[in-house]
Formats: sequence, C-alpha cells, structure tokens
Amino acid sequence: MVTGAPAKMLDRRDELTPMLAQYVDLAEEYDDAVLLFRVGDFYKAFCETADEVARVCELTRIEREDSTGTYTACGIPVDNAAKYLDRLLEAEFRLAVADQVEDPEETNGLVDRAVTQVITPGTVVDDELLAAGSNTYVACVTRGGTGNAAEVGARGGYQDAGEVRGDAEPHPEPEYGLAHVDVSTGECAATAGSLAEVREELARIAPAELLTGPSVGAADEVDAAEGVDTDDEVDATALADGAMVTDYDPAVFEPDAASDRLDAYADPGRFDPAAATAAGALLAYAEWAQGDDGPLGHVNRVRRYDPRRSLRIDATALRGLELFETHAGGGATLFDTLDETRSALGRRRLRAWLRRPLLDRERVEARHDAVAAFADHTLVREEVRDLLGEAYDLERLVGRVTRGRADARDLRSLHATLEAVPEIRDALAEAPELDSLRDSLDPLADLRERIDDAVVEDPPTDVTDGGLIRDGFDADLDDVRGTAREGREWVANLESSERERTGIDNLEVGYNRVHGYYIEVTNGRLDAVPDDYTRRQTLKNSERFYTPELKRREDEILGAEERADRLEYELFTDVRAEVAAEAERIQGLADAIARVDALSALATAAVERNYARPELGADGVFVEGGRHPVVERTEPEFVPNDADLPTGTVALVTGPNMSGKSTYMRQVALCVVLAQAGSFVPAQSARLPVVDRVFTRVGASDDIAGGESTFMREMRELTDILHDATGDSLVVLDEVGRGTATTDGRAIARAAVEFLHDELEATALFATHYHDLTELAGERERVRNLHFAATREGGDVTFLHRAKPGAAAASYGVEVAELAGVPDAVVDRARALVDGEDGGVGADATGADGTGADAAGDAGGDPAQRTLDELGPGTDRPREELTDAERETLAALRATDVADTTPIEALNRLNDLQRLLEADD
Ligand code: ADP
Ligand code: MG
Repeated sequence: MVTGAPAKMLDRRDELTPMLAQYVDLAEEYDDAVLLFRVGDFYKAFCETADEVARVCELTRIEREDSTGTYTACGIPVDNAAKYLDRLLEAEFRLAVADQVEDPEETNGLVDRAVTQVITPGTVVDDELLAAGSNTYVACVTRGGTGNAAEVGARGGYQDAGEVRGDAEPHPEPEYGLAHVDVSTGECAATAGSLAEVREELARIAPAELLTGPSVGAADEVDAAEGVDTDDEVDATALADGAMVTDYDPAVFEPDAASDRLDAYADPGRFDPAAATAAGALLAYAEWAQGDDGPLGHVNRVRRYDPRRSLRIDATALRGLELFETHAGGGATLFDTLDETRSALGRRRLRAWLRRPLLDRERVEARHDAVAAFADHTLVREEVRDLLGEAYDLERLVGRVTRGRADARDLRSLHATLEAVPEIRDALAEAPELDSLRDSLDPLADLRERIDDAVVEDPPTDVTDGGLIRDGFDADLDDVRGTAREGREWVANLESSERERTGIDNLEVGYNRVHGYYIEVTNGRLDAVPDDYTRRQTLKNSERFYTPELKRREDEILGAEERADRLEYELFTDVRAEVAAEAERIQGLADAIARVDALSALATAAVERNYARPELGADGVFVEGGRHPVVERTEPEFVPNDADLPTGTVALVTGPNMSGKSTYMRQVALCVVLAQAGSFVPAQSARLPVVDRVFTRVGASDDIAGGESTFMREMRELTDILHDATGDSLVVLDEVGRGTATTDGRAIARAAVEFLHDELEATALFATHYHDLTELAGERERVRNLHFAATREGGDVTFLHRAKPGAAAASYGVEVAELAGVPDAVVDRARALVDGEDGGVGADATGADGTGADAAGDAGGDPAQRTLDELGPGTDRPREELTDAERETLAALRATDVADTTPIEALNRLNDLQRLLEADD
C-alpha cells in the first residue's frame, strides 16, 4: 500500500518520536491519500509512500535514523512543489497536504500539524496545477433523493427555471442527481434525470473526477463483464469514462445531510431532490478537500439547470464532430479553429458555449447581433481585444481571495484588470449596438481605488514581511514607520557625531543580523574609547561596542519594524477581506468580460475566415457554399458545397471512398452547432432551423477509437438515436451497418432510413455504401439522393469533392484499389470483372430520382466489396446462374468470421440461411 500509515511505523507505534507519531496519525486518518508532511522546507513522505513519491517525482530517497529505527524518507521542496504535485496527480493519487499550523518559533515542543488541503484531480485550485482557459470539474452522481418521482413531476420539475424559456414537458421521473463544481472558479450547477440523461450530461461536463453515492457502485460490484448497468447498481467506472472515481463518506449522501449542506449555498427546495442530494454531497466533499473551513466563499450560486434546454450533443456526436478532441489525438479541433479569445475567462466561456449551444432563438440571435457588431466595427474590435489581453483570471482570483490565499500581487492584478475596464467601456461606446454589453461591465471603481490606495505598485509575494502597504494608507502604520525611520536616521548620523566626540576618525557604525547595531574601533585606537562604550564583539583587528543610547534606539527600530510588518499584514488581510466581500460583483464583472471576449473572438474568427451570419427559423437546413471549418484550413483547394434539406428530409449520400461524404455531412452538422452556439458559420449564406439535438454515428469502419465490439457499439448508438431523435433533430449517420455481414448491414441500414423518415420525420444525412438504398428516393416522399462524383481520365480518378443531386453510379472501388497500389494484375482482373458484369461503369449520376442507380448490380451493396468477393475461390461459375437467395447465402457465408462466431450463432445463422433458400424454392 502506497497510501495510509506505513506498516513499519504502525508496528512500533508506541516508540515513535512525537513527530513520526503525528505522521502516523494523519496518514491513518487520510488513508486513501498520499500524505505530504511538512517538515522545515519540505513536504516529506516516509517508507513505502516515500518509495512511490520518489519514483513518480524522480526524487532521491534518504535513510532517516532515530532511536526507534531507520526509515526511508523523501522530500518535495515546498518552494517548488507545484511540478511534483502535478506529477503525483497525473499518476492519479489523492494528496493530503499536512502543514504546520503553529509558528515553530512560538512552540517549544512539537509543532502542531494538520491536513490543510486535500488535492485530487478534480479539486485542484492551484493555478500552477491547472490548465489556463479550461475548467476542471469534479462531478457527483447520486441515485434518487428524498421525494418520489411522481411528486417531482407534479411540481412541474424545472418549469420555473428563470433563465430558460421553452415548453419542454415536465421531467419524466428523474431518478439520478448530477452536480458539478469547479472548485477553482466556484462555478457550480446541479440537475437530475434518467441514467441515460445523466450519462450524456457527464460526457459534456467531462469531469476530472467523479464522486459517487453509495448506490452508485464500483465496477466490481456490478455486472462488469458485460459493462451493462443492472437495475440496482450503476457501474461508476464506466460512467466516469476515464475520470478518477472517488467514494466518499456515505453520510454526506444522506438526503437530509446533503440538503443541510446545500442550504449554506442555495435554497434546497428549488432543486429536484436527487439534484439537491448530489449538490449537497458534492459541496461537502469540496469543503473537505479545501480543509473543512466551512462553506466555500466563492460558490455564490448553485445553478439549477435542465440539459434538455440546450442543444443536446451526445457523447458520440461530441467525438464524431471533433468539437474538443480529434479522433487521432493530433490535428485541430473545432474549438481550436474557433478560439480567438484573449483571456482565460473568454476561453472558458467559448468552450462552454460550444459545449452547450442554445435552443432559444432570441438568445442565439442576441449573440449573433453582438458578433455582427464586432465584425462591422473593426476598430472597436481590435481595441477591445488589445485591452482584453490585460484581463486577469478573475474567476480563479475570487477563489483565492475568498479562501484567504490571494497575495498582494493578486490584488494588483485585479487592480490592473479594473483599470482596463473603463477603457474597454470607452472602446465599446463607439458601437451603439453593443450598449448593453458595455453597461454590463461594472468598473468597480470603489474597489479599484481601495486597492490602489492600500497596496504598493510592485509588492513582494510574501505578505508577512512588509513592503506591501502604501504610506499614507494607515495613520498607525505611518507612525510606526516614522519611529523606525527616525531611529535609522539617528543611527546614520551617529558615525560622524561619535567621530567628533571621541576624536577616533576611522570609527564606523554598522549593523549585523546577529549582534545588531555596533560601533567599530580598530585595535590601534582602543585607548580613545569613551567610558560609555560597552564591548559587544571582538574581531581580529578591531572591537565592536554599543552605547546605552544605541541599544535603546536599536530596540526601538527593531520593535517598530516588527510592529510595522505585523500591521501591514493585518491591513493587507483587511483589504483582502474587503475584496472578498465583493466576490459577487467581481464575479459579475468576470462574467461580462468573458462575454465580451467570447463574442469579439467569434467576430474575429468570422471576419478572418469569411463566415456568414446564419438566419434562424428556417424550415430546414439551407446552406450555400458551405465549408468544413477545420478541413478548409488544411485543404488549400477546399470545394464549398450547398445543402438543401427541408425539415424531415433524409438525404442518402453516396460516392466512392475519399470523395468527401463524411466531410460534407459533418460540415452541415457543424454549421448547425456553430449557429446555435452564437457563432457565424463557414458558408456563403445559411438559413437554418433551431434543432433540439444533433446526433452523429460514424460507421465502425471509420471509427478508429475501437474498444468493445465496434459493431455492438454501433448498434447501441443507433438504438439511442432511433429512440431519442425527434422531428426537430439533425441526424448524421455515416456508413452505419458496415460492421457486419452485407445482408444484415444492408437490412439494418434500410430499416433505419425508413424509420427515420416514416416515424421520426427527422432531418438526416445518411452516407451509405449500400447502393440499393438509393432506390428509397423513388419510394419515399422525403428521401433524396446526393452523390459525390469523380472524373476518370485514363485509369486515374480525380475526386471533385462536389455534392450533386442523384445517386452515384459506382463506387470506383477498383480505381481506389489501384491508387492504393494493389498489383496491376489484380486491378486488371477486377476491372474486367466489373466491366463484364456492368457493361462499363458510368462516371456520373444516373438521375435525381435514384432509379437506375442500381447499375452496380445486385450481388451486395458495396461494389468494391463485391469485386473482392468475386476474386475469391469458387467464383468461376457464371453469376447469372445463381438466384438472389443463393447469392445472398454465399455473401453471408463469406462475410462470416468463424473465429468470432459462437456455436449457437453459427447454428442460428445456418438455420436462417436454409430458410432463405427454402423460401426461394
Ligand atoms: P469519404 O467520407 O467520402 O470517404 P472524406 O469526407 O473522408 O471522404 O474525405 C476524404 C478527404 O478528401 C478529406 O480528408 C479531405 O482532405 C478531402 N476533402 C473532403 N471534402 C473536400 C472538399 N469539399 N474540398 C476539398 N477536399 C475535400
Ligand atoms: Mg467517410
């Protein structure tokens, strides 16, 4: 065990030195954390813990010996701790920092120590340990609350939520509570919902740490093998999706206890019971991690929200659209592409907007108005952006101020930000459209003046050593400082007056930290020393003396300086407390600055990348000259494409590999997401609806992430989509059904399209290699075909990357194979087979209605696949002699992966195939 008290020390507990006994007590109390024990200038760890800390931090170990034995120890230097703590957190340790809580100089025996802070990946507050411009959340999931679900439904759930409008129905039986907090900024919010909703919301929050209630178990308590949640237990590890899972004291999850805790921050009655429990338990944990000093002063608001009141982007879509992470890990995300913010405040805000686009058209359009104004007023935009570079991270600063951790430099940084505010306001005044934004910037002039009056311009980081407070700020301080100054002046004059009085012309007055002030006389002149000199120190060539008056002055000076330092510290903490008392106003200003930064950044992106303001409220997705915002930046000849999708249209997108299908579908989805986030869109013009959810599913063959059986996952995600999509949703399905045998895959794809069209009436883009699906355009009213064409000259294929109406005639699989370097003989043979069967492959569409699209034949959806099939053994027999059922049977057999088929599945499949053949007879 790396954490907890070392066995070696426990064995001789009664003999340990008092200090090590203290260590053992604390290590036992914080037994799931690495205890870092302050000794002098180091945070020490002992025994096994020392081994681990030394390994992770690459520190040397020493052997520490006392009367009870030898113990391995290692130490992290306190002054330079951040980088080591960071490594320990990276290695997923919780850290309990035990500091000295009394002044070592004021005790004779053992200094009292206590754990002042528990640092976990989700509760970090140190700027040095946090990424700038993003949030670090710890989230909490609980199951159930005090009340029953029916009661909540009757209360109307979220209907009185002030800041959101809309007419969502009362919440159907919320069962799970979910809360999250960023302990560094104080942002805190809670919600409740079904397990699926909570899961989706968690993916959006992406917490660094997940706290789970007693009824949300650890993985080994549930049916982990299947990764499926049973009715009674939820697999916390699966839910956490990579975040550290923390079990905390079950007592804080007791609904009454949780509600009491929440009461210190917000009225628990406003929350769904499950949400209140989650929030209360989470805040209890956050308080504990901060040293259990009572409520967190900077958590001034616990926001109650309903995730269904914003555009929902589920975890799959977040990944598929690469909003914040790319599949491959490298390359630019949408956020990177859009991020022109200048401050950490703005960066966090833009991230939040993109994570949670809006549903309320008015609010979206208000953002568009502001972006337009910033885009039009170039000078205003540039000036504001320059000034925003001065904006300090006020959210985290408020956290430090209220925790009493801010130093004098922090206050000066706050002052510098406050000085920029009137200038930002002045700049905004040039754009009348931005009046309300300007009014939201409260310059906090009183606070600014107060800080400036009190704190010197360039203060030291240490707040106990003086030099912080300006002259003239406090009469007492000025007095004490005056005394010290007078004393020092008297000493400064002493040399010349004593030389005169004694006639010793080389006499010197000096100061030494150990002995204080002295008068130094060389050995040759000792005979001239007057009677009132007392010897203080003997040196080789001289003697040092003091006089009663010098001693008196010395005491006076040192006493005054000490008093001044103490007074300065007191005055500083008073000013800091005054600032803390204004936490809410500072947070309000931080909020306004964040908006200004995010909006002007969106305008900058819009101007620099030529985005257009979208028009909302359209009955469909209509885009002219749309581009993929990320791909267009690396593809010098990006070809813009239109989209023309009246609401309820299902567009079937066909075309060869690499022709641009996926890029096109994603750019349409991104257009919608960007617009509802408040951004302009990468297009010449766009008329868009307000959609409630964006779904994407990228087929297994395109999904590099892998993991569980990709086909199983694909089907599970398809299930979610078909359950949850509505007529207001935008659905993007990319090559769904590819992960299984052709027959099944084609059937699933077709059934999914029919369901999307007939039942859900959702607007959808559906890329498929199952060519015969394109027939649906002739059969279903709102199904359309789109295809990506290529031209062929000689044997070469050039992709046009241009969307055209109608279905593609062929997949150009052979040419792609050739481009990829498949040997000539194989390519030639394949081409002969394709030509032989189809009588030549046309290069372009065969008609907008999709009829005649089946030129690629009927042996299986994917011509490229089919070509390979035909290269397999036993294909000599002319294909024409086979019935459809026979071909399908063969295709299914070939597609079967024997290694991955259980005996039962094999029997079932054989049975199915026999029936298929029988039906054919
Ligand atoms: P598909 O899904 O049809 O296989 P992709 O959408 O993945 O094709 O596109 C393949 C590549 O073609 C992309 O990586 C991109 O570099 C390029 N591409 C796609 N669309 C365009 C476009 N409109 N203009 C220029 N290049 C494009
Ligand atoms: Mg693709």
